[in-house]
Amino acid sequence: MSAIRRRESHPVQVGSLTIGGTAPVVIQSMTNTKTADSAATLVQIAALAEAGCEMVRVAIPDREAAAALRVINAKSPIPVVADIHFDVELAMLAIEHGAAKIRINPGNLGGKEKLLALAEKAAERAVPVRIGVNAGSLERSLLKKYGGPTPEALAESALNYLAILEKTELKNLVVSMKASDVYTTIAANRIFAAKSNAPLHLGVTEAGPPEVGIIKGAVGIGTLLAEGIGDTIRVSLTASPVEEIGVARQILQALGLRIFTPELISCPTCGRCEADLVPLVKAAAKLLDNYPLPIRVAVMGCAVNGPGEAREADLGISAGRKQGILFRHGKVIRTVDQDYLLEALEKELAGLLASQEQSS
Ligand code: SF4
Repeated sequence: MSAIRRRESHPVQVGSLTIGGTAPVVIQSMTNTKTADSAATLVQIAALAEAGCEMVRVAIPDREAAAALRVINAKSPIPVVADIHFDVELAMLAIEHGAAKIRINPGNLGGKEKLLALAEKAAERAVPVRIGVNAGSLERSLLKKYGGPTPEALAESALNYLAILEKTELKNLVVSMKASDVYTTIAANRIFAAKSNAPLHLGVTEAGPPEVGIIKGAVGIGTLLAEGIGDTIRVSLTASPVEEIGVARQILQALGLRIFTPELISCPTCGRCEADLVPLVKAAAKLLDNYPLPIRVAVMGCAVNGPGEAREADLGISAGRKQGILFRHGKVIRTVDQDYLLEALEKELAGLLASQEQSS
């Protein structure tokens, strides 16, 4: 497991989920259907949940969307968060219609009085609120003070709103500070984390299409998580939201914060490789998705160095021209025809899974 020491944050309950405290880092995403179309939104939420999403945010741009929350929330397999901008009345409605959590940008709700009214209602119904500060919509006074949306400005904005809301009865508060610039996001969260124990939701916003956004998300979110900062994450991609979930999982797994599948080790191939390794590794990766085991599996390109190079692997195959070798903890256990390598690997995995289930 991970050697990362996580920052101690205040736990916040969102439906059946806990954010912060000692809870695992929660994966979230946001639907891109029209929320008022509850049927389409529920179909997307089901796909997200199936992929491993644990909490979902839906946009609430109008009263129809707020009203649709009632049926969405009742049928969703995961807690539903209402995303509100500009209109505090929509936030009030979302609470009435059963939102598990509200995400607001406190700077655009129309002033402190409206913010306090919302806090009162949320506290009354025990609905947690995320203060979502965004580099694109910072207060003018802070932009002037810092000369732009700097990390200091983002952190100060979040700390100011948190201080206002913490004086109310509303105690279940989560904070996020997002920018499309990776370093600004990292630095703002570092500043905030040193001054508050409110749980943090991490994300690099407007990160772009997958080719770019995956890297930005992994670097921004991953850097903070490696420092122990962050209680929930969203990888923001201009793509299907379902794609975001796989990336979020991989970030958490790469840091050892969560284990979803065995860790796959595969060699980069070299002049010794005689097997068609790329499709074999792809097929193995797909196979591993079905085995939630905390082990390492290696797929190597030659029998000469494969087992040795993957000595730390619990299980592995070294592919050859016609045959491959199955090995365990760097030791050869048997030779298998090329066409049956995956089958042999699957048999080993199934055996491990069965013994894990028996002992748990
Ligand atoms: Fe080359 Fe074999 Fe090492 Fe792969 S395992 S990089 S094929 S020596």
